[in-house]
Amino acid sequence: MTGLLYEQVRRVTPEASVLLQRNPGPMTLDGTNTWLLRAPGEGTAIVVDPGETDDEHQAALVGTADSIALVLVTHRHRDHSEAAPALHDATGAPVRALDPEHCRGAGPLVNGELIDAGGLRTRVLATPGHTSDSVCFVLESAEGVPTAILTGDTILGRGTTVVAHPDGALGPYLASLRTLHALGALAVLPGHGPDLPSLAVVTEEYLAHREERLRQIRDALVRMGPDATARQIVEDVYADVDESVWWAAELSVRAQLDYLRG
Ligand SMILES: [Zn+2]
Repeated sequence: MTGLLYEQVRRVTPEASVLLQRNPGPMTLDGTNTWLLRAPGEGTAIVVDPGETDDEHQAALVGTADSIALVLVTHRHRDHSEAAPALHDATGAPVRALDPEHCRGAGPLVNGELIDAGGLRTRVLATPGHTSDSVCFVLESAEGVPTAILTGDTILGRGTTVVAHPDGALGPYLASLRTLHALGALAVLPGHGPDLPSLAVVTEEYLAHREERLRQIRDALVRMGPDATARQIVEDVYADVDESVWWAAELSVRAQLDYLRG
């Protein structure tokens, strides 16, 4: 049994391994990626996004990491953060997030902060937009050169993310995408879906996608009139998207309407 659990862990870079939670769905894609970070040869690990409450996932995490130094949370959504308090209770590892409500045994993250744990240099980068409390974690070499980035739901391994209005907002999201684009061709370790080779490439695609959606919504408002509802716009503009996620598309449309009207 234990052997099976260990096999779920996949090494992606020398410092980062992923444990896929078995919670697949339209919003979680294959499931939540829980990341384990540690320098080669280092005993203690950082856990990023322990996922939703799930005894089996937690047992696999605790078994794999030997010792957990710190738990980090990319943002407040349940599929990333829910299991953090139980993991704190089980291991004593402090939990840190941007939102103080999601912290346990330590203070909130600070934008630009350098975290020293797991034998790694991990830089906190605030990237509001998907939610107001979204952060990315940049792994740096000993010389301070960025090598990889954990993006939570700000960048996904497949498809595009939802701007979760009203907590999320499009203006900050576009600014975050531009900040990320400036970091260059880092390996992307997302909260859902496969890892990607280049942050520069995927952020360019995301920015182009956002521009295209904004253009479509402007066009829809011209056709349907300025009083068109978010739902009517989803039915028109997001006709290519599976109906099971229209509720999420509606949040993105509300965020885009706010942006266009603001
Ligand atoms: Zn999320």
